[in-house]
Amino acid sequence: MCQVKQEVDNLIKQDPAKSAAFSVLKYLVYRAFINRSIIVGSLIRILFCKPICLLFTVALFFISCDTSVRPVDLILYNGKIISVDQDHTISEALAIKNGKFLSVGSNQEIKKLFRATQSIDLQGLSVIPGIIEGHVHPIPASISEHFEEIPDVKTIAELLSWVQLQVQEKPQGSWIIHPKFFATRLQEMRQPTIVELDSVAPDHPVFLDGSYGGMVNSAALRMSNVSTRTAEEGFLRDPQSGELNGMLRRSAFEFLAIDHSDQLSDEERRFDLTQLLQMYNQVGITSITAGSGTTKDLDVFKSLRTSGDLTVRIFQNISIPFNHQDSIEQMRQALDDLGYHTGTGDEWVRVGALKAVIDGGVLTGTAYLREPWGLGAKEIYGITDPTYRGVLRIGQEDLERMILVALEKDWKFTAHVTGGGGVDVLLNAIESVAETQNVMDKRFSVIHGNFYTENAIIKMKNLGVYADMQPAWFFKDADLLYQVLGEDRMQTFHPYKSLFDAGAIVNGGSDHMVKLNSYTAINPYNPFLSMWSVVTRKTELGSVYNTDQALSRLQALQMYTINNAFASFEEDIKGSIEPGKLADLAVISEDLLTCAEDRIKEIQVVLTMVDGNIVFDNGTLDVDEPEDRER
Ligand SMILES: [Zn+2]
Repeated sequence: MCQVKQEVDNLIKQDPAKSAAFSVLKYLVYRAFINRSIIVGSLIRILFCKPICLLFTVALFFISCDTSVRPVDLILYNGKIISVDQDHTISEALAIKNGKFLSVGSNQEIKKLFRATQSIDLQGLSVIPGIIEGHVHPIPASISEHFEEIPDVKTIAELLSWVQLQVQEKPQGSWIIHPKFFATRLQEMRQPTIVELDSVAPDHPVFLDGSYGGMVNSAALRMSNVSTRTAEEGFLRDPQSGELNGMLRRSAFEFLAIDHSDQLSDEERRFDLTQLLQMYNQVGITSITAGSGTTKDLDVFKSLRTSGDLTVRIFQNISIPFNHQDSIEQMRQALDDLGYHTGTGDEWVRVGALKAVIDGGVLTGTAYLREPWGLGAKEIYGITDPTYRGVLRIGQEDLERMILVALEKDWKFTAHVTGGGGVDVLLNAIESVAETQNVMDKRFSVIHGNFYTENAIIKMKNLGVYADMQPAWFFKDADLLYQVLGEDRMQTFHPYKSLFDAGAIVNGGSDHMVKLNSYTAINPYNPFLSMWSVVTRKTELGSVYNTDQALSRLQALQMYTINNAFASFEEDIKGSIEPGKLADLAVISEDLLTCAEDRIKEIQVVLTMVDGNIVFDNGTLDVDEPEDRER
């Protein structure tokens, strides 16, 4: 019956006359039976019900019959369609017309009702809604391996041999740079020493960039004219000798004599970006949230869209275009100058949230925690101050002012915050603003967050704040953080189940920044690897932590589909396979809901479709054109 109702809905959408007649009918029937209004209901039942119900049924029959075989663009059949709708519907087939799902049902139903220009026999494979990636940085990531591959180093020895190879290939004096190097992700969990780096690169400057901190060798210091005597505060020193030890804070990056001049043409950048978007398609991604950016980035995507080269839908976050200490007036002006706000655009390129950065990162000991980092952090990060909790860049008061202006100018507000202390500051600021303003409908979010106490989770639920999380961080970094912070504090690390149970919305993303391979990129953006990690609570090193926080497979899929559609206010047009929604989907090699648990991370995408068009196809399935056969 559901199927029939859905068909009627679809049919009347196409015909205004039928539509009007049915609207009246539906209204009367709903008034009578659903609202159970006694007077209206009784009258209708007496006067109309029997003849009308009969007429209704007869009309349905004829409409279904005489136009029963309707032309559509594409039918997918003989599969397992995991729709991720509210009822968790599983079907066998679907029909697509004009870039949208027209109908979903059994093989028999779909084949009876529609005639397709093209059809695909899914051969029993599963279909999921197109993956919506909640947090990536595609523009910098796309060019990160333009000149050379970034190595996936796991040990100090591997790092040193890569540097050595670079020394042999590059002329003396040219920089050897690893653009996203987290020493805490090495087996040794430490930076190489300056002596180790000098031993393989005596005359080549080396810079290992870890975003919020880094490491250089002696040649890099020499070339940058930095000496023990002249060094700025951001260059760290050996506690015993007082000599520079090569480690540096982000504030010292600007003193390195690296030539940042642009070496790539616009054409090359464009090409690299379209390639990366196609790589996203290869793992089933059909939409992304670009985690930070500017008007320029937004324009890049708009131009790709115009030229027909966009194969992924974009929700582009905009980094705050003002300083957090600016006056309210200055903030207002800066937002007015942008000339757009959250939601501006269309289903291909849309303006995302307004993004602030509140603290540093967990991999560099700069995340702002609830308690001091403690003794465990001394060995890994060299933190010796027993009261040090991390770096808090924006305090609650400034955040409140920023949030107020964001609300006034119609922006969704979001912020990078990686430590629990930072999460609390942000939630307190939102809570305080919520006393006088409506924030609930604005779907604010915490980017990363990582550490959520019960109290924080309740606040998120009550304030309608979403948790924009990266399971890849759990996979990569949980082992290190257990060592640094200890088991007790790690109880609050990535508590997916508690967030789901409380009714808070959890968004799945990766924070992909550099490297192109979906499994070895920093961070790995393969959605199936991430889903496997939230389902199993396993890390890269094979440890398993807090299985009581594991999600079901369907919940994991929701994180990467419908929940992310909510985050961009697009749950009515995407995030699930339902009639009327955009035809974005992925056909996958295994049944995500029933395959062996460890197979989840190995799932391959067979075919990806955006807007009803195939954007990736690994050649497993044939596209039939039945009309040709009939001719
Ligand atoms: Zn990010």
